[in-house]
Amino acid sequence: MAVEGVHVLLVTLPFQGHINPMLRFAKRLVSKGLHVTLATLEVFSQTLSNAKSYTNLNTQVDETPELHLEFFSDGLHLDLDRNKHLDLTLQSLPLLGSKNLSNLITNLAANGRTFSCIIYQIFVPWVADVAADHGIPCAMLCIQGSSLFSIYHRYHNDFEAFPPFDNPNNALQLPGLPLLEVKDLPTFILPSCPQHFKNVLSDSFRSLEKVNWVLVNSFYELEADVVKSMALLKPLLPIGPLVPSSLIGKEEVIMDRLDMWNSDDSCLEWLDKKPNSSVVYLAFGSLTVLAKKQIENIAMALKKSKRPFLWVIKSGERDSDKENGLPVGFMEETNGTGLVVSWCNQEKVLMHGALACFVSHCGWNSTLEAVAAGVPVIAFPEWTDQPTNAKLLVDVFKMGVRMRPQEDGVVTKEEVERCIFEVTEGLRATEIKERAAELKDAARKAVADGGSSDGNVDYFISQIIEQSS
Ligand code: UDP
Repeated sequence: MAVEGVHVLLVTLPFQGHINPMLRFAKRLVSKGLHVTLATLEVFSQTLSNAKSYTNLNTQVDETPELHLEFFSDGLHLDLDRNKHLDLTLQSLPLLGSKNLSNLITNLAANGRTFSCIIYQIFVPWVADVAADHGIPCAMLCIQGSSLFSIYHRYHNDFEAFPPFDNPNNALQLPGLPLLEVKDLPTFILPSCPQHFKNVLSDSFRSLEKVNWVLVNSFYELEADVVKSMALLKPLLPIGPLVPSSLIGKEEVIMDRLDMWNSDDSCLEWLDKKPNSSVVYLAFGSLTVLAKKQIENIAMALKKSKRPFLWVIKSGERDSDKENGLPVGFMEETNGTGLVVSWCNQEKVLMHGALACFVSHCGWNSTLEAVAAGVPVIAFPEWTDQPTNAKLLVDVFKMGVRMRPQEDGVVTKEEVERCIFEVTEGLRATEIKERAAELKDAARKAVADGGSSDGNVDYFISQIIEQSS
């Protein structure tokens, strides 16, 4: 079979951090000559109907005959707040969502669109069953890093080897990874994790039996030791970083990103007026909501640091008796050195020369974007993979520092100040900057023609063709 005859189906949940890497992978496969259908939940088209980026995506899909967008229902009413009814949503997806996806595949086949491979992201493991029912080979795409995949994989296959994590003094040594203390572990394997998340994860690792390939949103050079350590257990194919094209020196394409909220581009003009390497950028992804006390402590530290800052405070974090969620009068007291927006185009912000550092919750997308942009990070992880990503950023990638919270989880203003100083002016600041620049270069090389990730994508395509022939 020739590449042009290969049509693959990508299935994802519609969260900001899930759909964007899948969309970028779809785009890479299209650039290699494949046809791609991206399928996600019907509720997504409703949530995003007013977002500019969604209109852009639809235009792009209309203009790209090799790319298709399809929706299926999770079986729940469109008006149901799925975040509030997460349990119900997670139950409905494998039962009704899978039936609806299966019907979609049957209907598309009846209209001449048949798939040579189904690629699903790690949090929709039931897709592997749908693929098996239709006799279609399938791949899992881990949208978190190789390190995370390795920890989860070993946890699910050799649980007995893990020390009990209710003792905070226990630590874990796994091949290819630094010693992980409890504070560095993904929260999904801790006793405190809600059962519904644990179930999704164990389903994901059970589904691996039906999977032909495991792709990872990472690049070999970033996590070489851990990729090597998995070779005999479950070989990984790093095909990333799946970040916006502009961050990896490729031509910008309209459909490169989808945003849950429209971004406020005034911050880019604001950044243009700031000196090089001066601005502290703070953003905590699409889901994290900071406690009021935490916002206050960060605000006080920024005032003391006297550095310009750009801070994304989402509308859900804003308090009605405060200005932009910040203490009243704070913006005047900082003499206009700061700007607060409710959402920005993070890739453009990270690429701006005015940036000094990025205070991040360390979601995997933000982590990869910081790596690809070569921006030093101040890590402030909260849950899921973020603590492990923070550990990697500081101790493996060596391109940042980590905030140390008090026992109640809140970071003091002195600690925020310490981290800003350490990463911008402290003894290790130059070393951290140099390391960030090295990784930026490595990320670009990995996705360039002949690079490690590019080679893995080619290998994956050749495998699909071999299986279909
Ligand atoms: N992001 C953005 N604008 C903002 C804040 C975040 O575009 O103001 C994007 C960011 O570039 C990243 C995504 O939101 O791609 C967040 O994904 P991540 O995995 O870092 O965290 P999550 O939202 O899943 O917690």
